[in-house]
This record gives sequence, structure tokens and C-alpha cells, in this order.
Amino acid sequence: MNPVSKVERPVILVVDDEPAVLSALARDLRREYGQHHRVVRAASGEAALEAVRELKLRAVPVALFLVDQRMMGMSGVEFLENAIEVFPDAKRVLLTAYADTQAAISAINDVALNHYLMKPWNPPEDNLYPVLTDLLDDWQASYAPPFEGIRVVGHQLSAQSHRVKDFLSRNLVPYQWLDAEFDEEAGRLLELSSSDSSRLPLVLFPDGPSLEQPSNVQLAERIGLKMHPGLPFYDLVIVGAGPSGLAAAVYGASEGLGTLLIEGDAPGGQAGTSSRIENYLGFPSGLSGGDLSRRAVAQAIRFGTEILTPLEATCARAEGPYRFVTLTDGSEVSCHALLIATGVSYRKLDVPGVERLTGAGVYYGAALTEALACRDRDVFVLGAGNSAGQAAIHLSRYASSVTMLVRGDSLDRTMSQYLVSQIETHEKITVSPRTTVAGVTGGGSLEEIVIKDHTAGDVRSVPAFALFIFIGATPHTEWVADVLERDSSGFILTGPGLLRGARRPRGWHLDRDPFLLETSVPGIFAAGDVRHRSVKRVASAVGEGSMAVQFVHQYLSRVPE
Ligand SMILES: Cc1cc2nc3c(=O)[nH]c(=O)nc-3n(C[C@H](O)[C@H](O)[C@H](O)COP(=O)(O)OP(=O)(O)OC[C@H]3O[C@@H](n4cnc5c(N)ncnc54)[C@H](O)[C@@H]3O)c2cc1C
Repeated sequence: MNPVSKVERPVILVVDDEPAVLSALARDLRREYGQHHRVVRAASGEAALEAVRELKLRAVPVALFLVDQRMMGMSGVEFLENAIEVFPDAKRVLLTAYADTQAAISAINDVALNHYLMKPWNPPEDNLYPVLTDLLDDWQASYAPPFEGIRVVGHQLSAQSHRVKDFLSRNLVPYQWLDAEFDEEAGRLLELSSSDSSRLPLVLFPDGPSLEQPSNVQLAERIGLKMHPGLPFYDLVIVGAGPSGLAAAVYGASEGLGTLLIEGDAPGGQAGTSSRIENYLGFPSGLSGGDLSRRAVAQAIRFGTEILTPLEATCARAEGPYRFVTLTDGSEVSCHALLIATGVSYRKLDVPGVERLTGAGVYYGAALTEALACRDRDVFVLGAGNSAGQAAIHLSRYASSVTMLVRGDSLDRTMSQYLVSQIETHEKITVSPRTTVAGVTGGGSLEEIVIKDHTAGDVRSVPAFALFIFIGATPHTEWVADVLERDSSGFILTGPGLLRGARRPRGWHLDRDPFLLETSVPGIFAAGDVRHRSVKRVASAVGEGSMAVQFVHQYLSRVPE
């Protein structure tokens, strides 16, 4: 436990070697953020690094570095390169003159710069505060306060602990992880709570009794997630709160539709598990999936969307003008229009050992939650798509080595070029082409991966701490298999994809063709990755989610009351 951080405000460290600029910046920052943050000044890169060291020793968190690029001795980027090793989660903003723009753009890759600001920044209300407030909010959302939040005590390589951590982080609930084996504090807490160590993880709440090995539903109830619809009927029910479902919720609710969003796991979908989305319009430095989800959820709620999570839709049916969805708890909710945005999930790797060790060293796309535990370890990533590439880069911040096991000859055909370039020049990442995983072994947790090398034609076992699997996806559509037309892989057919020549789908009773995103049942729509031939990108999922709402309006304008 760290008594200091209970009282210490997170720090904004501002660095500039021009005294007048430094004072003006510090003054502006204190005025806006002084109540919740401590503004620390440093007059050179060297002095700032000393301050960083002291803050770290005293366990005071740094939320943001605001640094002038042009300084004598050490440039802003050079300072950031060193400082982020000590505070990897702190946000980074460079203060630049017009001539430094190129350095700032390079810094987006080199030090994962969050933003660069041009001097002068007056008026700060327009040119300084909006950017910094956004970044400080992001930092705050992922910052786990050591004392006051939820604490999870468990074994690092346990599937149950992994599930609990993953559920909390994907629902954007900050928590502190305490390893029962290595953390003194964990031992003390287990003793105090007289918890049975065979029933870990233990989840401690600041405001009430703890839970041993809780289910996701028990956790959801304790952290106050909403699991029952407030009304029996909605204009629009959306199933799945990935980018597509969230976009539909924002547009639906903002355009006056009574909107319910049902999510089986945690808002954000696949995008929510991404460490850094770099190709989403409007975010030149990228943003994490967690940030995107948090913003989208806030926006959807602001417009009046009701969100239920974690609650799965298990069945859908149509009756006259009404559409019904059955939920895991057996209850039913009805609506005029139903949007299915249930996306896809990772295909399972079917080789010996994987099922038993999943969650205990073997993970499907869980790079965000487990990355910290990989510090100074050798880890492997299986897959060659963008998600595998992002994970490798994220893991390399902590692991001593990351090996990418790639079935093909190279990454070029399957991964975006910007990721390929980062990986090729990364000193900790190795790409191992023409290799596949033939099995995994280990007692309680992963110890070795059996790798088949298709070039050498041999099979070898290598020691490994963790294996992250990213090998394609299957759609979540089993629950509508009897209701909607799907393709041979289970993706939902929509619009023109449903027409055989001029013939409309079986049972279609309207005197028009299905709308672009409408399924084989009028009034049931599909958007995002779950749809046949969808693009499988965040932007396209968001686009389809918002477009679907336009078709819902057209459908509703003709639906009988
Ligand atoms: C690790 C990773 C990194 C990625 N990085 C990028 C990137 O950088 N750029 C990019 O453009 N794309 C990226 N992608 C792809 C992108 O995330 C997806 O294309 C996008 O998330 C699809 O959105 P969606 O809403 O259609 O579906 P999903 O994101 O899959 O969301 C579907 C949601 O539906 C829920 N659900 C499923 N079944 C049910 C049910 N029966 N009841 C209730 N809820 C249900 C799921 O829990 C999930 O939350 C990445 C994907 C991954 C996995």
C-alpha cells in the first residue's frame, strides 16, 4: 500500500528553458488544473529528469508531460524518451514552434506523442485546455488509485483471475491487481479477510463485503452495471455494443428513438481490446480501444440510450410489427426495429494444451490486461493481422522479447504498412515466418510452446511465458441461426446479398427489396463485422451503425402502429 498516493494529486510536469514561457505555462496550468493536479516546473530536460526520478521514488503519479521541443542540452523528444520509461502511462504533449512540426510528427511514432501544440497557445481556453483536458481525462480513466478503488487478489497465471481482471478493465472499472504469490500486501489482505486461498481471486470493494471467485454477473451487480431494461418496449433495440452498436445507439437516441443497447460482455467490442487504434479518422496519434469505448458510451448515454451489460441476447423473433429479443436471464424485450451488431470473436486454436491453459499463459487477444505481467519475459504472438501487430508493439513495452509466429512468408500481405514498418525496426520484436503452433505444455500455466517450422521442416519446443492468439474470427450469430439468412460461415446476409436474381428472401412479405443493411426479416438490421462481406474496421463498423439508423427511420415511417 502506498499512503502517499492517497493524498498526492497527480502531477503535470511542465518543462521549458525559457523562464518567461515556463512561468506563463505554469500559471495557465495552475489556473485550470490546480485543484486536482500539482503543477511541477523544470527549467531544463536534465532538471526535469531529476524531478521524474524523485516523483517515482515517492510513488507520486505523473499524469502529463508538457515539454518544449527546443531546449538547450536536451530536446523535448529526448527528455520524453527517458521520462516515459519511468512513467509509461503519462500523456505526452510537445510544445513546438512552426519549424519543429516535422520533429513533432516523428515523435508521434518515436515516443507515442499524444499531441503537439504550437506556440503561442493564447488564448489557453481555445488552444491549450481542450487538448489537455481530454488527455487528462483519458489518463484518469485508466489510472488505478492504489487506496480507494477495487482490489483484486489472485494468482497471475489463473484463468479465473484473468477473467475477473479482463471483465473489470473492459467495463472501464479501475482496479488494483495484487499477486497472491509475490505481493506482501496481497498476503496481508488474504490474512485479514481470512479468505480461502483455493477460492481466488478475491475482489475487495471499498464500500462493502468482498467477493470470492465472483461470476461476471455478481461483479456487474456490485459495480452497479444495469442489467434489467427499464421499459418493456423500445423503438430500437441494438444487440452488441462494439463500435457499430455504439454508433447506432448515438445516432438512434440523438434522433429521438427510444433506444436500448444490450451487451453480453463489455462495451467496446473487439475495438475495446485494442491497445492503439491508429487509423481512425481524427486521431493522428491514435487512441486506445478503451478510450474510444469510454467516449462512445458517454455519448450514447448522454443522448438517452439505455445500456444493459453484461446480458446476452439468446434468441430473436418477429411477430406482426413487433420484434422480440430474449435475454440470458429469460426475460424478453420488444421493439419495432432490431439491430444486430454482435461482431465476431477470435477463432479458437485447436491444438493440444491450448484449451487447458487458456487464461493461464495462453490468451485470445488479451494483450491489454496481461501486458504488465509480461515485464522482462519472453512472449509470443500468433497471427499476422493488424490486431496481432498492435499487440506485439504494445507487449514490447514490457516484455524482454516478442516473437511473432506467422504462417505466411511475411507480414506484408496481411498487415497495414505502418505497423509492418514499426515491427521491422523494433529491436525487441522478431518475426518468425512460416511457423505455426503445434501445441502448448505446462503444469498450472504455460511453460513451453511447440513450434512447427515449415521452412526447416522440424518441430521444436521453446520456453514461453505467454502466448497471445490472433487467428481470424467467427461471427456471433448462432442465436439468430433459425431466424435470419446467413452465409456458409455464419455471417448475416443483408440488402442486395439476399436477392437471388430478382427473387426476394423466403417469407419476405413487403412490396420492396430489403434495405442495404436489412436482413431477411423486415425491421431486423445488421451492421459491422457480423455482416456478410463487411470491411472489418472500426470506421466501417461506426459508419454502418450510423447508416443503419437511417434505414430504421425509413422502416419505422411505414410500420403499422
Ligand atoms: C485487437 C484488435 C485490434 C484492432 N485494431 C483495429 C484498428 O487499429 N483499426 C481498425 O479499423 N480496426 C481494428 N480492429 C477491428 C475492429 O475492432 C472491428 O472491426 C470492430 O470492432 C467491429 O465492430 P462491431 O461493432 O461490428 O463488432 P465488435 O467490435 O465485435 O462488437 C460486437 C459486440 O457484440 C457483443 N455481443 C456478441 N454477441 C452478443 C449477444 N448475443 N448478446 C449481446 N452482446 C453480444 C460482443 O460482446 C461485442 O462487444 C481491431 C480488432 C481487434 C480484435
